[in-house]
Amino acid sequence: MSLLIQNARLNKVSEKCRRRVSVGMLSLGCPKTLVDSELILGMLDQNRYEVAEHVTDCDIALLNTCAFINEAKEESLDHILNLAELKREGRIKALVVLGCLVQRYPKELEKELREVDAFMGTGDYRELNHVLDQVVDEKRISYVGHAPGFLYTAQIGRLPLTPLHTRYIKISEGCDHICSFCTIPSFRGRHRSRGLDDVVSEARHLVKEGARELVLTGQDTTYFGRDTEKKFLLGALLQELNKIEKLRWIRILYAYPSCVDEALIETIGSLQKVCHYLDMPLQHVSDSILRSMRRGMTKKSTYALIGKLRRKIPNLALRTTFIVGYPGEREGEFRELLGFMEFARFDRLGLFTYSQEDESDAALLDHQVPERIKEKRFREGMQLQQRISKENNERLVGRTLSILIEGADEKHPHLYFGRSYMDAPEVDGLVYVRAPKEVRLNQGDFVRAKVIGAKEYDLSAAYLELET
Ligand code: SF4
Repeated sequence: MSLLIQNARLNKVSEKCRRRVSVGMLSLGCPKTLVDSELILGMLDQNRYEVAEHVTDCDIALLNTCAFINEAKEESLDHILNLAELKREGRIKALVVLGCLVQRYPKELEKELREVDAFMGTGDYRELNHVLDQVVDEKRISYVGHAPGFLYTAQIGRLPLTPLHTRYIKISEGCDHICSFCTIPSFRGRHRSRGLDDVVSEARHLVKEGARELVLTGQDTTYFGRDTEKKFLLGALLQELNKIEKLRWIRILYAYPSCVDEALIETIGSLQKVCHYLDMPLQHVSDSILRSMRRGMTKKSTYALIGKLRRKIPNLALRTTFIVGYPGEREGEFRELLGFMEFARFDRLGLFTYSQEDESDAALLDHQVPERIKEKRFREGMQLQQRISKENNERLVGRTLSILIEGADEKHPHLYFGRSYMDAPEVDGLVYVRAPKEVRLNQGDFVRAKVIGAKEYDLSAAYLELET
């Protein structure tokens, strides 16, 4: 394209954009996608675009999608269709779909979803303003690079979508593991760690802005540094983050079990600001299933790891996820899993029925489990975990915990809700804190409270004092 034509087009766009175009965002899926959504909004050219409060009331709606399993894909498609309906009704003018679903199925989406104005893959966010300019110019565009190369740095400003006191930091992109059921590495690429200094500099900046809790995320946070420095650097990163003044909690999500070594366990157990909380997806415990899943763990090493974690990290809150109905899982393997759940007594647990993903190796395996059996196992597993979770919570009654206040209950005066170190945002439970009339609490306050009641997922507590 000649420079002349390019300039003419830019002039046309700026002409149309004399009023700034409002852009709304709906972010689906996990915290990793949420960080992407924050970066996307942060990269908007503010001379041309402004962020709308609601995705249903803007000029251009951005939908950041998830494509991890069938359920997530269906949810993404439902939202695309809902937003397309709003476009038909004239409530929004254009629709841009981004993220994992697009990276995974670029051609199919472009062909099938004619009502979408633009598609962007996970490696192309730097082209956002260019893509939006095309949309403003009423052009339909698909911008999906083959290499999902985007890795953000502290220099890229984010527009946070979480409350001020809690911020996610994505420390890496992609994944080097080869779990048979998962297609994420095929569209998110190989593991790429950010620089340790870069992460620390971002963390310092976020704490300066008011964050009290930092939640570390990535496909596999324990692999941090392995690709760049040939060594596991999560421990070193935690040491540096622990030095940041005014930061209260550092929380680790998505630890890969075979990378959780002695050194990391010691570090989590000894650093004052690192929550005694670990989110470590195990997926199964039976040897035959773990081997088929290519998880690099055995039943014996899994039991040993849980024992070590519980011994070395006092009052550890352990979260995991399991898949039921993986190909070849018979009643015996499922019972092994239930027995393990009884042994480990996970504080938090996500259970998923196996999703047969195209292009994953597990999809081609024999002995796929019928849906009704998967559902039956899911229900039985959930019932067991509900009992364990209630018993675990009941054991907390009488204990004093630090609670990070997240808000006030609208219906009950003097009742606030927040989280303890045992609860990650969004996925875990809440602690309801009853405070005396004269006490007024604000979002982001830390209070000491005594646990006085327990339900399956939530706790109730009595306010003791405000922490400084
Ligand atoms: S660790 Fe396994 S399940 Fe997780 S993203 Fe990597 S390949 Fe997928």
